Amino acid sequence: MDKGSESFQGAVSAAVPGRRGFDYLVVGAGFAGSVLAERLARGLGQRVLVVEKRPHIGGNAYDRYNDDGILVHPYGPHIFHTNSADIFEYLSRFTQWRPYQHRVLASVDGQMVPMPINLDTINKLYGLNLTSFEVEKFFESVAEKKDSVRTSEDVVVSKVGRELYNKFFRGYTRKQWGLDPSELDASVTARVPTRTNRDDRYFTDTFQAMPLHGYTRMFEKMLDHPNIKVMLSTDYREVADIVPWRHMVYTGPVDAFFNYRYGKLPYRSLRFQHVTVPQEQFQPVGTVNYPNDYGYTRISEFKHITGQTLPGKTSVVYEYPCAEGDPYYPVPRAENAELYRKYEAEAEATANVTFVGRLATYKYYNMDQVVGQALAAFKRLEQRHQAVTASTLAVEALAQAGA
Ligand SMILES: Cc1cc2nc3c(=O)[nH]c(=O)nc-3n(C[C@H](O)[C@H](O)[C@H](O)COP(=O)(O)OP(=O)(O)OC[C@H]3O[C@@H](n4cnc5c(N)ncnc54)[C@H](O)[C@@H]3O)c2cc1C
Repeated sequence: MDKGSESFQGAVSAAVPGRRGFDYLVVGAGFAGSVLAERLARGLGQRVLVVEKRPHIGGNAYDRYNDDGILVHPYGPHIFHTNSADIFEYLSRFTQWRPYQHRVLASVDGQMVPMPINLDTINKLYGLNLTSFEVEKFFESVAEKKDSVRTSEDVVVSKVGRELYNKFFRGYTRKQWGLDPSELDASVTARVPTRTNRDDRYFTDTFQAMPLHGYTRMFEKMLDHPNIKVMLSTDYREVADIVPWRHMVYTGPVDAFFNYRYGKLPYRSLRFQHVTVPQEQFQPVGTVNYPNDYGYTRISEFKHITGQTLPGKTSVVYEYPCAEGDPYYPVPRAENAELYRKYEAEAEATANVTFVGRLATYKYYNMDQVVGQALAAFKRLEQRHQAVTASTLAVEALAQAGA
């Protein structure tokens, strides 16, 4: 959603001779900001200032070694997966990978069963011995036919029936969103598939891997370029009027950028409780979901996810959904999409700013989607840059010819 080319052209042509300040001010050092900073500096030779209000790079994907020497994800477990060879190849310039396939169990009726629901989930839950063919028939027999599938409840009930909906989805969704699934868009649960085979991988993407030395190391490599300066613990508003720049890439919340002039875009937040326990392993897989009991939705154990081996201790994180706190999940309801469209129109009319990333576009994106969105935004900026450079050269040639 980057901006009209006129003032952008003015900005870039002014940037050529005797350059002062920065060509780009990038707000936020998460995936969106870091990919754009990297591409603009390394790909186009532009001078980039990255301003990040947190005391670290990496955005929500930031990881660090805690006091117990265990690599943890302070903002919740981040598992990389993508179907895009281009995105995987791009990130591979900055990291090696460790193959990792995430597995999730759900604690239901006193048992731990695979999630998404598969053949083993049904057999274990009901003490059956169905085949794939039979479980397909089972789903068909319990599914409730719906004329129209509008809400999250409709999605699940029309696929696996009310009993499984109540066991696996209703409580989890109510905790996660503070809303009943009947009040949420169909898109929220459309992401959770069911399987009639025994595949117990949480994701089925072609590329599933974790950065070998962690996300933060990967971000450090991305941003390690003489044309990139990074300013941490700084809100961009503190410097935007002081430091010269020509074009802004904004990856923060779009409503904050426009001073909430149409009201606040609703987000769901999370409180993370990080705990290190004196045992080798805490749970059998990376994540266990608790759809019905406790205030938390899930517990994730980092050693599974990162592959770190460390004797005698392990770190886990409990996730407690809450209304207040950092903006994590845009609340997918029709009226919020409507409100966002007002901000989107403002963003489109703001010629010298490119809005990229999950907060700036008010969409829940996985990491690979944000990388894809940032690379696409870069392509558009690059095309404009090339067009402006060509027209500047033409003007110079004309001036020389006239001289
Ligand atoms: C709990 C949780 C788990 C997740 N797990 C996964 C997963 O397993 N796999 C996956 O693919 N994706 C996952 N995601 C999604 C992933 O976090 C995002 O796709 C990704 O981090 C988005 O990158 P971004 O750059 O758009 O935003 P962010 O990472 O949020 O970066 C934006 C940055 O802008 C900064 N900023 C905001 N306002 C200002 C300002 N005024 N001045 C300066 N800086 C500012 C913020 O501090 C932030 O660092 C998860 C998300 C959450 C919340």
